[in-house]
Amino acid sequence: MLQFPIYLDNCATTACDTRVVEAMLPYFTQYYGNASSRSHAFGWKAQAAVETAQQQVAALIGAEPGEIIFTSGATESCNLALRGICDLYAGTGRHIITVKTEHKAVLDTCRALEKKGTEITYLDVDVNGQISLPALEAAIKSTTILIAVMWANNETGVILPINEIGAIARKHQVLFFSDATQAAGKVPVNVKTAGLGLMAFSSHKLYGPKGAGALYVSRKNPRARLIAQITGGGQQEQIRSGTLNVPGIVGFGKAAALCREAMPEEALRLGAFRDQLETALLTIPDVAINGAASERLPQICNASFGYLNSNEMLSTFNKDLAVSSGSACTSGSLDPSYVLKAMQLPDARAKAAIRFSCGRYTTAEEIDHAIRFVREAIHTLRMNSPAWQLRD
Ligand SMILES: *Cc1c(COP(=O)(O)O)cnc(C)c1O
Repeated sequence: MLQFPIYLDNCATTACDTRVVEAMLPYFTQYYGNASSRSHAFGWKAQAAVETAQQQVAALIGAEPGEIIFTSGATESCNLALRGICDLYAGTGRHIITVKTEHKAVLDTCRALEKKGTEITYLDVDVNGQISLPALEAAIKSTTILIAVMWANNETGVILPINEIGAIARKHQVLFFSDATQAAGKVPVNVKTAGLGLMAFSSHKLYGPKGAGALYVSRKNPRARLIAQITGGGQQEQIRSGTLNVPGIVGFGKAAALCREAMPEEALRLGAFRDQLETALLTIPDVAINGAASERLPQICNASFGYLNSNEMLSTFNKDLAVSSGSACTSGSLDPSYVLKAMQLPDARAKAAIRFSCGRYTTAEEIDHAIRFVREAIHTLRMNSPAWQLRD
């Protein structure tokens, strides 16, 4: 039995896996100790659970457990990485290289740092959402303290050449930070091969609870150092103070372990749904898949429907389909997606984009229904569209 609306917005957030919820429950009512309490069993139990979660989360990304700092989510992790590095180099020349298609958690933080005197280079992307590696290398100067490039884009699913960027960063001895929020748990991510000093990701994008995230902070080759942005009780080696969210962290750990196990099968299954959806959408006239020529995450399809605009489609779709026009964080605005604009797509195409994102609970029936529904809805909308009627 299909339930409506069909959820195809897994890039905004995912349902919490019931096995994750089960793992979390005892930590609310039974093992509710403060992980920093060293004098009794309640504290020890909580601390042990946090250590298990560190191992599970570290294993997902090829890190050591001690390199995982828990935060409230990827937004906080990005802030800690960017601001923490800038503060470390306060007073000396500071320059950060990033990309125009980064998530707002990175871009808006860069804007804020720019106001406080940090120089930022925003690299362009091509029509496939890719940066030029020579342009990246040319942008590095003696004052460059950080390269910040996301692992995969949240609107298009486009995967960036992380290992190559890591090699350039290593060659010039510049620290490399990646926002891997959409990639972690979905495709293989290895921080060591990638040469990363810092990496942000989030629990609620990989079937864990909201309010938990992590920043990977490399201990060696290179050792990443940063200044705490939240000060207080000195938890997590002074890098991020505050009583640990033990139930959230336990859930994040369980979710990471489940993703690690399911990844090969899940990536294939979701990739097949994505391909089926794209093949079907491309049989509708004037439809284009954005970022199609790039290597992409298996779960995301970003399509533009000529002569229509995102908001009218979303309001027609929303009883049947939960999808979005781009990232949840910028939806509600009428402006075309800055990610698609940066990819040099014409305004009309950027304004006509819909992102479909599949997840663990997406079924074949749902994809079949979504395809039929979109085909009919687009036809009806176009029949009522003067722009479509007047096209040449
Ligand atoms: C969702 C997302 C974030 C923000 O993560 P939160 O955990 O919700 O703060 C940052 N970057 C990317 C690429 C995302 O998709």
